Amino acid sequence: MSKEQAQINIENKKNISSHQTELKKKEELIPLRHTAEHVLHRAIQELYPQTLKVMGPAIEDGFYMDFDLDYKITPEDFPKIEAKMQEIIDADLPVEGREVSYEEAQRIFKDNPYKLDTINEIVERGEKATVYTLGNEGDPHYDLDLCAGPHVSSTGKIKAFKLLSVAGAYYKGSEKNKMLQRIYGTAFPSREELDKHLEKLEEAKKRDHRKLGKDLEIFSFAEEIGPGLPLWLPKGTIIKDELEKWGKETEEKWGYQRVSTPFLSKRKLFEISKHIPYFEDEMYHVQVPGENEEEYFIKPMNCPFHHMIFKNKTRSYRELPLRLAEYGTVARYENAGALNGILRPRLFVQNDAHVYCTEEQAVEVFVEIINLHRYYYDTLGLKGYYIVLALRDPEKKDKYHGNEEMWKKSEMLSKGAMDRAGIEYEVVNEGAAHYGPKMDFKIKSAIGNEYGISTNQIDLFMPQQFDLKYIDKNGNEKYVIVQHRAPLGSSERFVGFLLEHFAGALPVWLSPVQAEIIPIGEKHLEYAKKVVEQLKDSNIRVEVDSRSETMQAKIRDAQNQKIPYMLIVGDREAEKGLVSVRLRTGETHNGIVLNEVVDKIANKYLTKALDLW
Ligand SMILES: [Zn+2]
Ligand SMILES: [Zn+2]
Repeated sequence: MSKEQAQINIENKKNISSHQTELKKKEELIPLRHTAEHVLHRAIQELYPQTLKVMGPAIEDGFYMDFDLDYKITPEDFPKIEAKMQEIIDADLPVEGREVSYEEAQRIFKDNPYKLDTINEIVERGEKATVYTLGNEGDPHYDLDLCAGPHVSSTGKIKAFKLLSVAGAYYKGSEKNKMLQRIYGTAFPSREELDKHLEKLEEAKKRDHRKLGKDLEIFSFAEEIGPGLPLWLPKGTIIKDELEKWGKETEEKWGYQRVSTPFLSKRKLFEISKHIPYFEDEMYHVQVPGENEEEYFIKPMNCPFHHMIFKNKTRSYRELPLRLAEYGTVARYENAGALNGILRPRLFVQNDAHVYCTEEQAVEVFVEIINLHRYYYDTLGLKGYYIVLALRDPEKKDKYHGNEEMWKKSEMLSKGAMDRAGIEYEVVNEGAAHYGPKMDFKIKSAIGNEYGISTNQIDLFMPQQFDLKYIDKNGNEKYVIVQHRAPLGSSERFVGFLLEHFAGALPVWLSPVQAEIIPIGEKHLEYAKKVVEQLKDSNIRVEVDSRSETMQAKIRDAQNQKIPYMLIVGDREAEKGLVSVRLRTGETHNGIVLNEVVDKIANKYLTKALDLW
């Protein structure tokens, strides 16, 4: 193992173990948060006696409670509800559970149709019915709820909590059912931990890619076009194009060949790839004019098209590994509830490629792909990434294609490759692709949110489906192995991630406007134009603020737009061929020779530097 690999391995180990510590911490908080939800229920019930509780679980960062109540709760009601919750917590009521018969459960909850519905489901599944009590009968805050636990032993254990938001939620998540109310909250064993969490939520709000996308004019949506179909605005298009240019240049260096394929196809192709019937619900169907026309579908993936290019001629072992790359636009009909700005749209362009290789080359090719990921992440200064190997869910083997032997082999190849690369990874028994194990690269943004941006898959199934073969040294036909990879994910998702990670202050090379020229007065406009010319000659994206605003206002606006360099020009600068530089970090460098500044910015652009000076 090289020194560099050993270092990466240490990083990986650290990232995996910090991820696991976090998971464990969250798991340990479940009883506390679940109990806080019971306290919320009791408080609401006391304040609004008509409330019918539906359900209320602990979730990743807190808890929520669904209930049916004619009065519409707003955040203005939270202080009152929180005060009542605090009363119940201060009373330090014991939380106790007991098993009840189905009949007893039905009797206890006879006035709550939602609970009766849940009890019927419990009966159908043949599970035990359990109820939990807060306090003892007769206590002013005594409460009883149908629940499977777990809880902490008494309400006093809740040292810090907060209600966060209220929203509508359909019963059982279906639009056919009644709209209920849902209150979200969170709880922690200490005030400190709660404060830290609230700070993070505040920071996350500022970094929300949908807010930044609007403020910085990066993307938008139009009702007339449809949900999940993003419009890239001029500034966003610059970012997207820079990323894609980088992808293309890098792939060329790494031995990829570019291809270009149609965005729709006849049903037949997707039947071979098994997208139909398995993904038919997520595919856009195209109505072809005229009668007796064949059905067409918009592609949800590029793979089948690349496979057809591979099959275009007889392939020899000498051509392998064959790397076919395309920035391919794909469409997936995501659930309306799952849509999230450009992080999860319905149409996106993938940094896609398929590498066709022999079995003997599979590990080597995989290591090469990991190194490509590392190159991209390192350039962007992304440190907190690690790999998850997603295998088949052993309980649901029928969900996946291919036989046992094929799965064993692709698992073995994937693990072997990661061991050879000296990569630490986490194994999970779910989330594999329908045709093979998947290696997900998880990246953490600066505020600790985790994103699955890209995956890599070793695929033995599609070569058989598509009959993808090569002629080996001895003239025998053999199946190739396909590796699916997309290190930069989709441009949409990747830009969404980068916006959050950098809080909109993208590295110079990705900044839509790299330098803003700020003339102090009207008489400095002429020199400002000269500065613009010189920057443009070095391909730097530049704007001049010629409004008759004050210098402070111009600086503030450029700062809000996260423009890395503000070049201020006044009498002294114009006279001596200088500029005064203000960085978006607040740092200033006064009276610098113009040429020097142009070279510096051009150099930061060219080298994709992360720093500004
Ligand atoms: Zn409970
Ligand atoms: Zn693919």
